[in-house]
Amino acid sequence: MTEMTTGRFAPSPTGRLHVGNLRTALVAWLAARANDGAFLLRFEDLDTPAVRAEHYESQRRDLEALGLNWDGPAICQSERTELYRQALKRLTEAELVYPCFCSRKEIREAASAPNMAHAGHQYPGTCRELSSTQRAERALRRPPAMRLRAADQSRRFTDLVMGEREFAVDDFVVQRNDGTPAYHLVVVVDDAAQAVDLVVRADDLLESTARHLLLYELLELQAPDHAHVPLVLAPNGDRLAKRHGSVNLDDRAAAGETPDQVLAHLAVTLGLCTETERLAGTIDGQPLDAAALISRFRYDALPTEPLYLPEVYLAP
Ligand code: GLU
Repeated sequence: MTEMTTGRFAPSPTGRLHVGNLRTALVAWLAARANDGAFLLRFEDLDTPAVRAEHYESQRRDLEALGLNWDGPAICQSERTELYRQALKRLTEAELVYPCFCSRKEIREAASAPNMAHAGHQYPGTCRELSSTQRAERALRRPPAMRLRAADQSRRFTDLVMGEREFAVDDFVVQRNDGTPAYHLVVVVDDAAQAVDLVVRADDLLESTARHLLLYELLELQAPDHAHVPLVLAPNGDRLAKRHGSVNLDDRAAAGETPDQVLAHLAVTLGLCTETERLAGTIDGQPLDAAALISRFRYDALPTEPLYLPEVYLAP
């Protein structure tokens, strides 16, 4: 008997889900259900200025409309801060974190200096070796973020969609300077606490997986499998946003499409059904809906390149 899979979808309730988010959710759901697994919904709502109360509900509704059901109540990260504090405490006690006083601008400037060997978005290590006097001095001017002492490591992993990958891990932020635990820490703590063993998400987080794998090791947690789904991009290559067109389920309904028709279109872009099946609205003799796609799910059918927003979705 194979072990039970637990997958999840972890949206940030900062806006309506667009077709790119829905496409990732569909893959996450199918990957779990194709393995008779559980599927969890988790709201990543620690970035409070961007969170909008109405989108917990709109995101649930949109997932339900597509037939992407989840097990148990959805959880909210904002209610679990104690768990993240414990993980931070553990890293602090092991002397694996240090305070960083750099502003974004300072990091950008340091990282682009001509003698700087690090890649652009990697932290150049400015605050890594400050003395306690220097720390005390700087703390008078601004509260520090906390960074993990990653010691120039890298991690290699086999992504179920993108194949074998290796990325360097820099000293990344585990607690922001307003005291909020940072995404990279929180996602690892939550996935482990929820016994998630299959992380499906958009591939803008592919590189971050190396950071997460390091954290799993340092916190002595079992790492899940990862599957990264290429993003849906605007025709000019920008990240998809509302302004690009008719991109959420209400827009699609106004264009005369039912949620199942949106789903069928997404399934074609994922290589899981044919255009003929989409037009007929049936597969394998049943209505083409999320449940009917379960038996079609295969990682190797999935594209590894971004999808440029198809014309039907563009603003008129
Ligand atoms: N909250 C992230 C997002 O909405 C997803 C993070 C994850 O799945 O690990 O893009």
